[in-house]
Amino acid sequence: MTEQQPDIDSLRQGLDEVDSGIVRLIAQRRELIEAIAKIKEQSESAIQDADRERRVLDAVIAVATDLGVSASLVRTIFRELISDSVAQQARHLNGDGGGQARVAFQGAAHAYSDAAAQKYLAGRGLEGDLTGYRTFREAADALLASDADLAVLPIENTTAGSINEVYALLRSRELFIVGEETWKVDHCLAAAQEVPLSALSRILSHPQGLEQCSQFLQSLPNATPTTYFDTAGAMQAVAAADDPSVAAIGSPEAAAANGLVVLRHDISDSPDNYTRFVVLSRTPTAVDLRIPCKTSLILVTGHEEGDLLRCLEVLSGSGHSMTKLESRPRPGRPWEYMFFIDFEGNAADPRTASALDELRSAALFVKILGSYPAKALRAPVRPSDLPGQLPAGQAAPRPEPSAQDPAEMLEAVAAAPRPAAGRSRQYKLVDRAARQTDTVIRVGDVLVGGDGFVVMAGPCSVESGEQIGATARFVRDHGAHVLRGGVFKPRTSPYAFQGLGWEGLDLLVAAGRETGLPVVTEVMAVDQVRRMAQAADILQVGARNMQNFDLLRELGKVDRPVLLKRGLSSTIEEWLAAAEYVVAQGNQQVILCERGIRTFESATRNTLDLSAVVVIRERSHLPVIVDPSHGTGLRRYVAPMAWAARAAGAHGLLIEVHPRPEEALSDADQSLAFDEFAALMGRLVAVPSGTVAGGK
Ligand code: PEP
Ligand code: MN
Repeated sequence: MTEQQPDIDSLRQGLDEVDSGIVRLIAQRRELIEAIAKIKEQSESAIQDADRERRVLDAVIAVATDLGVSASLVRTIFRELISDSVAQQARHLNGDGGGQARVAFQGAAHAYSDAAAQKYLAGRGLEGDLTGYRTFREAADALLASDADLAVLPIENTTAGSINEVYALLRSRELFIVGEETWKVDHCLAAAQEVPLSALSRILSHPQGLEQCSQFLQSLPNATPTTYFDTAGAMQAVAAADDPSVAAIGSPEAAAANGLVVLRHDISDSPDNYTRFVVLSRTPTAVDLRIPCKTSLILVTGHEEGDLLRCLEVLSGSGHSMTKLESRPRPGRPWEYMFFIDFEGNAADPRTASALDELRSAALFVKILGSYPAKALRAPVRPSDLPGQLPAGQAAPRPEPSAQDPAEMLEAVAAAPRPAAGRSRQYKLVDRAARQTDTVIRVGDVLVGGDGFVVMAGPCSVESGEQIGATARFVRDHGAHVLRGGVFKPRTSPYAFQGLGWEGLDLLVAAGRETGLPVVTEVMAVDQVRRMAQAADILQVGARNMQNFDLLRELGKVDRPVLLKRGLSSTIEEWLAAAEYVVAQGNQQVILCERGIRTFESATRNTLDLSAVVVIRERSHLPVIVDPSHGTGLRRYVAPMAWAARAAGAHGLLIEVHPRPEEALSDADQSLAFDEFAALMGRLVAVPSGTVAGGK
């Protein structure tokens, strides 16, 4: 014990040195950004460059992977650094910085609003004098009474949704939005002393805090949730009460500031729990045109059918993409609504100004709340290209199209007149006639459908954290875009391994997070759908469930992409009709997956019907991928069929990979070993893609 002491001390000293080194490097990074900002000042170029940002992220993630550092950790840190650089450059262009601002927020010291306000001020180089108020309205009124220069109020949360009271203030007060800020909310449960969770009788927090942790609260047997004006105030109250059966939900910083013990960290229902704040002022500001901006407005439309649509068309028709549309009841006018709209654009830009003029003439009422530097932009999507492949649209030494070019032939297939008459129509929404352009589905930051080619890979079944983690890292490093892993397994025999169930899902999700890959897993029953939709990025319907109509209908009601496998003995028409069940309920995000069908042939486990790919692409706008693992059942056949699928025009692959295939608890014969997967991927890029754009 006494001998270890100096060791720990010197290690800690080493750590302190590394930490200050990190800060010095950040300072050095900022000096470089300052120099770049000076150059950009002289030019017309915009300060945000999505391609450059993606290259920066890809490069640092590659270094992280080499060094065995978590990709998601590095991604989170660099997203913050990049957004800090954008703010730094914006400040430069706007000439702000160095001032002092009195800022009103709602809550006690160390509330999330306090933290977000500090972050906003730091990003603009301002010194702050912050005052907490009991309610949103008191904070807004302090601003109106000139007791503050700015007010920072939360407007929406990614888990609990919009904060209606703040919308009401924007409507009723003469206030303008001059900025926005985002804050990642990390709720913890804290009490005056260490007590078992079963001993708690009351949990205090702001209503939003309680709502964002509702699943965790349901797991506490004896505790009653009690609303409090603020999370940090709830922490203060717990410290003052000194009652061991009372606890509060709020930030770990607020717990520490009030001398409380954290009983449980990370208790939000969703790990990605962010709040967006608006920064309000009594007067609007003008923002340099080179800074990426958002504009917010309130809109009241006429009462004719299609009035809202006409207003939205003014924005979309002029090339403005809308980031938020919120409808709120019009006070005193039952069943009438007003709309709050955020879109990307700057009212000082003549193109935006003329769209706003047009909007005024199309609507009953428009109030511009302000144009301000955008902070919460959607993450840029990456096309799902294979490593070594040039992104679609980039000039590349591609082979000259010839009469035999597979892409041209496929184009001809797509353009050919459709055999409409005589075919029984069991579906209409998924029919190519319903939508001329291909459906493209966003999964995490990759796109499925259209021109990209997406590879989903992983074990048949999740078997352990070690197994799924190692597979995830390997397939990610060799170009896979999505991680697969079954946790509820539809096995022919009830005595075969049935999957790890919900525990397996946790392991899959953890591996996905660690590697930055979205995950796909099979859902077998109606009552699993909602829970699974909260954790998995794509919900797979297995071949045996393709005509489980209740399951399909339930999947149509959740906002999650569905991977619909073709039934063991289903025709293409039956398969499309099954997809129609999902789409007809409102969920358009269906990815079809050809996985082989039953025929008289016994040399392979199933007969992989690659002709289904061209037929589907002709008859439907939905993306279609191919699973050569189940399609052949034998690992040596998987790679050739994968290459053939790409050539046939599939939008991607689903491949089973296992660290030790011979020991796999399910589908051992068809699972690829790591080196086999690497070989498959290595040659895949050389296969011309049958997609129209890929072969051009
Ligand atoms: C699977 O993907 O592991 C699976 C069970 O597939 P299918 O439903 O195609 O048999
Ligand atoms: Mn399988």
